[in-house]
Order: sequence, then C-alpha cells, then structure tokens
Amino acid sequence: MGDKPSNPKGTNKTEIIMTIASKRGFFYPSAEIYGAKAGFWTYGHLGTRLKQSWESLWRNYFLGLSKSYFEIDDCNIMPKKVFEGSGHLAHFNDPLTECEKCHFRFRADQLIEDATHTNVGGVSAEDMTKILDDNKLLCPRCASKLLPVKWFNMMFEMKVGATGEDIMYLRPESAQSPYLAFKREFEALRKKIPFGLAVIGKAYRNEISPRQGFFRLREFTQAELQIFFDPDKINEAENWDFVKAYKLRLCLAKDAKEGKINEITCEEANKELKIPKLCAYNMAKVQQFYLSKMGIPEEKFRFRELDEKERAFYNKLHFDIELNMDTLGGFKEVAGVHYRTNHDLGGHQEHSKEKLEVVIGDKRFIPHVLELSFGVDRDVWALMDVFFKEETERTLFAFPAGIAPVTVAVYPLVNKDNIPEYSTEIYERLGKEFRVFFDDSASIGRRYRRQDEIGTPYGITIDYDSLNDNTVTLRDRDSMKQVRVKVDDLIQTLKKVIAGELAFEKAGTPVVAKAPEKEEKEKAYKPHLPLNKHEK
Ligand code: ATP
Repeated sequence: MGDKPSNPKGTNKTEIIMTIASKRGFFYPSAEIYGAKAGFWTYGHLGTRLKQSWESLWRNYFLGLSKSYFEIDDCNIMPKKVFEGSGHLAHFNDPLTECEKCHFRFRADQLIEDATHTNVGGVSAEDMTKILDDNKLLCPRCASKLLPVKWFNMMFEMKVGATGEDIMYLRPESAQSPYLAFKREFEALRKKIPFGLAVIGKAYRNEISPRQGFFRLREFTQAELQIFFDPDKINEAENWDFVKAYKLRLCLAKDAKEGKINEITCEEANKELKIPKLCAYNMAKVQQFYLSKMGIPEEKFRFRELDEKERAFYNKLHFDIELNMDTLGGFKEVAGVHYRTNHDLGGHQEHSKEKLEVVIGDKRFIPHVLELSFGVDRDVWALMDVFFKEETERTLFAFPAGIAPVTVAVYPLVNKDNIPEYSTEIYERLGKEFRVFFDDSASIGRRYRRQDEIGTPYGITIDYDSLNDNTVTLRDRDSMKQVRVKVDDLIQTLKKVIAGELAFEKAGTPVVAKAPEKEEKEKAYKPHLPLNKHEK
C-alpha cells in the first residue's frame, strides 16, 4: 500500500474517491479476483465501520423519536405470495430496451433522460419506444438500432427446496417485513397505534444497468421506519410545536424543472401546501438528521416532490430526499418520505386472508403507513462525496468525529526506548472509549497524511517528552493544529472536543508545529510514569 495521497493530477473526484476507497479498505467490487459483477460490492474494514456508524446514528435518532418505535429483523428470502400481495410481481418493473445487434440491454428511461434531459417517470413502454425513435437514439455501445421497450421485473427469483418447485424471491425492499410482522407486533405491543417498526437490512434488485458505481447496486442495505397510524389522525403530531417554525427545504413538483428550492416552515407546509402534520413533522426530523447528525451542508439538501405521474399510484405523498453530490453531477436521491395509505396492509389482508385491520375504541380500520426509507449505501457514498477535500499537500475526508471509521490514531514517535509500550497502554486505554488505530510504521508526517486520507479526526503522538511528563501531542485533522495534553486528561478532553464543548485550541498547551518529519529528533531516554491502572 503506497503512502502518497491518491490524487494524481487530472483525475476526477469520483476516480480519486474510488481509488482511495478500494486502496484503503472502504469498499471494492465483490468477488473481484474472479472478475467483478456490476452492482455487488464488499465493504472493507473502514467501510464496514463507516456503514455501522451511519446505521447506529440512524437507529439512535429515529428509534428515539417515539417510545412506540421498535426494530425488527427478518429474512431476505420470502414466498411468492408476499409479492403478489404487495404488488411487486405485477408492478416492480423497469423499462428495458435491447440493442438488436450486440444484444446489450439498457434502461430506456435512463437513455432518454441522458439524451433529452426530460424525466420520463410514468411514461408507457409504447411512448418510450416512440421517444427513442423520434430522437434517433441508438445503442450507446455499437450505434445500432434499439428494440421496442418492454417492462422487466427487477426481483431475483429463487428455487427453494430439493424439488425446486417452490419459487421464492429476494425481497426488493425491507419494507415488506414490518407489514408482514404487523399483526404479531401490534398484539405484542398492546394494540396501540400509532406505532413504528424499523428494519435495517438487505434488499435486492436486478437493476438493468447498475452503471453509477457504488450508487445503483443490485444488493444493498436499506434503513426504513414504517409508521402505522389512524388515517383520521394524520393531521396530528405529538411534538408539533417543536417543529412548526422549522423551515423545510422543498423543491415542489411544479418547480422541479428549474430545481428551485423553497424554504417553508412546517406550519406553512401544513396550512398552504396541505402536507399533513404527521408528514411535515417527520420531514422536519429527516432534514434535521441530515443537517445536524450527518453534518450535510444545508445547501446540499432538498426534498423533491414527485408528481402524480412519477410516484407509485398508492403513494398519496412522495418526497425524495436528494443530496447534491459532485460525483453524481447534482442532486440525487438517497432516501424518501412516502405516505403509502393502507395499500400495504390492505393488499396483504386481501391475499393472505388474514385480518390486518385493528379495532381502537369503537373504530375498525386498516392502519395507514408513513414510510421513511433510506438507502444506507447511498448515504455512505454521500458521506464520501460531501466530506472529501483536496488540498495541495494532502487529500482528506472531513468526516464528523461521530461517523469517522477511526476516531483517533495513536502514533509512537519511534519504535524503541519504551515508547511503543507506553503508546500501547494509551491505545488500550483509549480503545475502551473510541475507535482507535495504532500506526507505528513510516515517518510521522506520512502517518498523519495516511490518517487524514481515511478521515481520522484526531491523532496522538507519543514522544520522549511523554515519558518524562506524561503528556502527548494531540493533532486536529482539519486545522492540523497541535496541542499538548496530559495523558490522564486525554479521554475527557477528547470527549469534550468531539462533543463541541471545548474548542480544539483550548484543549491543551499549543504546540508550535514543526515540519512533522523533524519531530523525530531523539532525546535521552527516561522511564515513563506508569498509567493509573484503575483507569485503563
Ligand atoms: P431509484 O429511483 O433511484 O431507483 P427508488 O425510488 O426505486 O430508487 P425506493 O424504492 O424508494 O427507491 O427505495 C428507498 C431507498 O433505497 C432509495 O431512496 C435509495 O436510497 C435506496 N435504493 C433503492 N434502489 C437502490 C439501488 N439499486 N442501489 C442502492 N440503493 C438503492
């Protein structure tokens, strides 16, 4: 593994991020040594941590919104009947066109959108064929004629059991799991509504052309919260007063062409745009999650309203959450807020013949669903895109400390004179509180660059002075400033700095930064004072 920043001049941002991602262990194509298949990726040791950080941030935040929200975990393989009930067998289709000569297959809507910059969501197969012909669009690989557009079902089918007669499917969305578990959980949770069931799990879609690298995958992870509620109470939200003055960043369907973003308070969204309080409240919470928890700059975030033609027929309201990513050329969908009515429970009730309606007081009804649906991998990619920075001397990911794969790196200045042993003690002590990495190879300057490149916000260097006075150098990734901190105060100091309660400059005695390589000057060895064992 080379130590130089992976930013050869002239390469674009996507290439640089992809190079760092695969070289440093964020993610790389799955089964690579046999020739990778598009849409399947392995998370390496750093990517796994980044993904886990995002998932726990999501879990803590969204499950924390109500005492009645819970998480379940379900199978990925489900019976055919589930998808008859959900409508996926009939409707989960993408428009496909094939080259009559090289037989390569493409998504017709993507070809049209790329060539004409018009959105063809909701357009029929016949009309798409006509658009292809009218615009003389040819096969992008060999410039031959394209065949008429057909619908292609995106679910992966499996034969289960020895006879192979049982047809089952990999779930195309994690959402079905809460609908299938609804009856059990409603009863187990004392028959109260509203309540929410969340899933963080895999979903599988046989995407026709997963061409956007890490963005459009065939196996991916979703984090979804399904909120079941009484439709008569859709204009009620428990903590409405906390959000009513909060401004949502909305790109309404009527403004979609210009991409205009309106900043509208939840109260205005409710009164003027008729977005029910339950939806507006949850949209505010989603926006706050992106801006305050993930640290996405405000101008890179928007809700995009889908019009009736673009959204699924059962969705009464559909807002995509889009983030502006340089690597994808603008705002792209990472999540969605969907008011799915009683379509899901209604469909499963009809097909399973199992009663899914509830009785609350003297009212009998099928609960409606508000879905908050997030693509975990797309959010991970967004973190890589938004926080990537290129400077003259280095590249870095300026990840917030709570998300970064490694929170603090420990660097023994030299590999002798008891410095490695002392550094190991500090590493072990910090490891109980933070995600720590021990880096003892190469010059200190190169080690800093390597950790900057993977987004490690803090570094601790243990040198000869540390052995004498029990202090270490704490380095801040973003400013590259350094302060000297007492080892016994290190954990508390780091916690305060991470929480934003203490400015980095005030975390210790300032160190006048020398060229890092020159810091390796040796000093006379003196035995260190042992760490306070009970604190380890
Ligand atoms: P798209 O329009 O991009 O195909 P979608 O509208 O079909 O996505 P949903 O069915 O609403 O997506 O799924 C919810 C979330 O799951 C999306 O917002 C996205 O973040 C994620 N997702 C969907 N399809 C994929 C995919 N093929 N690869 C990675 N993430 C995906």
